[in-house]
Amino acid sequence: MAADVKDADVKEPGSTLSGAGIGQGVAIGAVLRMSAPLPEPADTASTRTPDEEKARVEQAVATVAADLRERASKVEGTAADVLEAQSMMAEDSTLADDVSSRIDGGKTAERAVFEGFAVFRDMLKDLGGYMGERAGDLDDVSQRVVAALEGKPAPGVPQSDRPYVLVAHDLAPADTALLDLTKVLGLVTKEGGPTSHTAILAREKSIVAVVGAAGADALADGDEVIVDAATGTVTIAPTDAQRADAQRRIDERAAALAGGVEPGALADGTPVPLLANLGSAEGAEGALAAGAEGVGLFRTEFLFLDQRLAPTVEQQREQYVKLLSAFGGGRKVVVRVLDAGADKPLEFLNDAHEDNPALGLRGLRSLRANEDILREQLTALAEADAQTDADLWVMAPMVATIEETRYFTELGREYGLKTVGVMVEVPSAALLADRVLQVADFASIGTNDLTQYTRTADRLLGSVSGFQDPWHPAVLRLIGEVGAAGAARGKPVGICGEAAADPLLAVVLTGLGSTTLSMSPAAINDMRLSLKRYTLDQARSLAEVALDADGAAEAREAVRAAAERFTSPAHQNRNETAQ
Ligand code: PEP
Ligand code: MG
Repeated sequence: MAADVKDADVKEPGSTLSGAGIGQGVAIGAVLRMSAPLPEPADTASTRTPDEEKARVEQAVATVAADLRERASKVEGTAADVLEAQSMMAEDSTLADDVSSRIDGGKTAERAVFEGFAVFRDMLKDLGGYMGERAGDLDDVSQRVVAALEGKPAPGVPQSDRPYVLVAHDLAPADTALLDLTKVLGLVTKEGGPTSHTAILAREKSIVAVVGAAGADALADGDEVIVDAATGTVTIAPTDAQRADAQRRIDERAAALAGGVEPGALADGTPVPLLANLGSAEGAEGALAAGAEGVGLFRTEFLFLDQRLAPTVEQQREQYVKLLSAFGGGRKVVVRVLDAGADKPLEFLNDAHEDNPALGLRGLRSLRANEDILREQLTALAEADAQTDADLWVMAPMVATIEETRYFTELGREYGLKTVGVMVEVPSAALLADRVLQVADFASIGTNDLTQYTRTADRLLGSVSGFQDPWHPAVLRLIGEVGAAGAARGKPVGICGEAAADPLLAVVLTGLGSTTLSMSPAAINDMRLSLKRYTLDQARSLAEVALDADGAAEAREAVRAAAERFTSPAHQNRNETAQ
């Protein structure tokens, strides 16, 4: 069996590194490494006056910010947002004050920038979660400013005439956004988690990537590797058999993807609409290009995360009209009202300090405490609905009781919204799903939070990240409750958490009764392929297999083995003979 390389520089042919795979692709190629980060500037006393050093910093910062803005202008969507945000980080006045006071203390411009940015980077890291993963963005800005001060080129992506697998300690968003996709076959980073910007952009650009691969430092220019995002592995110096298997999978996937964009369905024709998770109207175009049949989750809080004051009705209506217009012709768009809390703080909904915000005044609770803001959002949604012809569904986050379900659905109907539902992401709502669905028009299961609360493990905390696994039978059992309630009451039950982007788990979720799947647009193609491999009966029996397992890992393994039997040539021949 192939050895798993950790930090060692052992490069046994056929050995593997493990990390978090982004997407389902496979790539084979030779490694080219990113240039190494700049060395730490020496901590020696400056020979210039403080004013001279400050002027140098000012000029370097202006150059870097202009360069980042120029890069932003060449791309769209998330990439542009990230680069714009980085240019703002470079020019942040609090950071500039910190750097200036270090210069006043006798530091060189290079050292003051290095130290000042490091302090802010550490503050972000301490916040953890989404904010923590922005620390890498700030490090990149720091490197760019120091390089500008030293008159060196910013560390960046190597130039090559031949396609290659890019290996980096971590890849800055500025580099990921502008990767030449005709050259970069795949991407491997040592740092970064599945929600880092590198991962988000890789997913958006459909780059075959494995991030957070401990041991990636062992890879050197010219090493041949297989990057397998589906399994989150990097195989070093593959054997002929490994190379042939990877090539077969690359060819199969390319052939299937070239087959055109059809609606999502199981092998027996049971429709399973594939919808997109979006955080801005700008994402609509890409989602449609990826074959999204509608939107299963529009996270409205993402529009207003950096605002201190509640958005106005006009401000909101403009965004919603943009989104709904993109899905005209009666396509379904599920909009979630503001979901504030934990890693998505909205100052205008709850600015109180809470020791445990995951269990605090969040989601629908914080909206109820600010009902005027909720009413304004429903007004904006109803007005946008009246101006467009998409099929608008509206739902509330973090609903935990029947009373809350009744509150929200009645309020939504008061505004003339015709399809009003709730998210099921709290165990109590799943356990009472039959009664929740008596009241609500539909349910959408948020597997991210449902897993967090069922398994009692903060989804943002690295030390318990092993618990955040939706394959766990306890989570699946709750999803099964909701699926059964939906079937009994004839109400739709969608899935919109990350679990819906796992091609095999999604088959299990369909077997548990979910009627639509909503995911990041980049995951849609692979999902379409996966669903087509199984009938509804097979999906149901895979769900039974998962429910019977003792834990998440066991469920995943048992389902994988059972699924392989369904798709094996022998099984398919048997079925064809029987027909
Ligand atoms: C979820 O909890 O699964 C979900 C979709 O909502 P969010 O990830 O925005 O909390
Ligand atoms: Mg949630």
